[in-house]
Amino acid sequence: METKQVNAFGTGAADKPLQSVQIRRRMVGAHDVEMEILYCGICHSDLHQIKNDFGGTTYPIVPGHEIVGRVTAVGDHVKDFKVGELAAVGCIVDSCGHCEYCKDGIEQFCDEGCTYSFNSPDKVLGGVTYGGFSKTYVCNERYVLHMPDFKDLAAAAPLLCAGITVYSPLKHWGTGPGKRVGILGIGGLGHLAIKIAKAMGAHVVVFTTSASKVEDAKRLGADEAVLSTDASQMAKYARSLHFIIDTVSAKHDVNPYLNLLRHDGAVVLVGLPPQPLEVSAFSVVLGNRSFAGSNIGGIAETQEMLDFCAKHTIVAEIEKIDMDYVNTAFERLEKGDVHYRFVIDMASLKN
Ligand code: NAP
Ligand code: ZN
Repeated sequence: METKQVNAFGTGAADKPLQSVQIRRRMVGAHDVEMEILYCGICHSDLHQIKNDFGGTTYPIVPGHEIVGRVTAVGDHVKDFKVGELAAVGCIVDSCGHCEYCKDGIEQFCDEGCTYSFNSPDKVLGGVTYGGFSKTYVCNERYVLHMPDFKDLAAAAPLLCAGITVYSPLKHWGTGPGKRVGILGIGGLGHLAIKIAKAMGAHVVVFTTSASKVEDAKRLGADEAVLSTDASQMAKYARSLHFIIDTVSAKHDVNPYLNLLRHDGAVVLVGLPPQPLEVSAFSVVLGNRSFAGSNIGGIAETQEMLDFCAKHTIVAEIEKIDMDYVNTAFERLEKGDVHYRFVIDMASLKN
């Protein structure tokens, strides 16, 4: 298959800094879209994968899955995208297309396993996929999103993973007027969950381990913010919430949060702590509570989320950085020192 060489940023080992690397991208096939990447967000999943937290990383790895760009080429059969228009790619870039899940538009559950935008077996080129820390991206048009009109395009990039990952469970669990929703952890996912849950009409209570974020949570739109390390503050919320979205990236005790649920409530885990979490029988049995999970969202729902966020003028709060800052950005992300998403200006990646 014809390919071309493209500049990217990646690393050959968990303990080595990211640096300039060359990757190969396929030339557009009949159904493919090629885009020049303008902005790429940095998600905690990029960090987990670089560090091989889940044990499945193939090196060299080029991370990045919150990708916004401008279309530079389309295949002969592409009807929905034109050269020159804005477009985006999130977490999913391929799937079988014919199983019941793909037919239902929930490609993240594809029977054959969907292809993620980086560090995932590449069914077309072989090897693994390389993500958005690169000059271009190429994939089938089925997995490309239309970018609505956002005033700040860079700040919209984090919607492609962080946005859909919280939008999907917020919708699934019935966020709306009359619902009291908890958000656990104010990072990239958590701060967007506050904005989206508010736009859906819920009463939003935020739980943070960072004293400095308590006031900021209200600026972001939360109705109430609780310092989760303060037991007396936590006690006031016992049995008060319909469900909680848990975005915490590291091992933590979920039982205190299960105890904040009303009967039939759920703690919905979207964070990916590498170690198992322990659930006490009494935390779920008393009150018929659930401990659930949620994995990103399908392509159709991702488009729906982008349109919802554009309508409600929701974007991420970002720190825009150049590529030469990316290793420092990962160090800061690991320490929780980010307000609230890093986005790389891809013009800073040299040709
Ligand atoms: P992030 O920006 O680093 O935010 C995570 C937040 O969790 C931190 O800001 C912090 O909030 C809290 N936290 C971190 N360590 C903690 C600890 N030891 N105890 C308690 N709280 C802690 O990360 P992100 O990009 O939002 O991603 C969050 C998680 O979701 C990651 O594990 C990521 O891999 C995962 N993820 C999952 C999906 C999915 O489909 N399910 C998709 C994308 C990402 P406070 O300072 O407010 O306490
Ligand atoms: Zn992500």
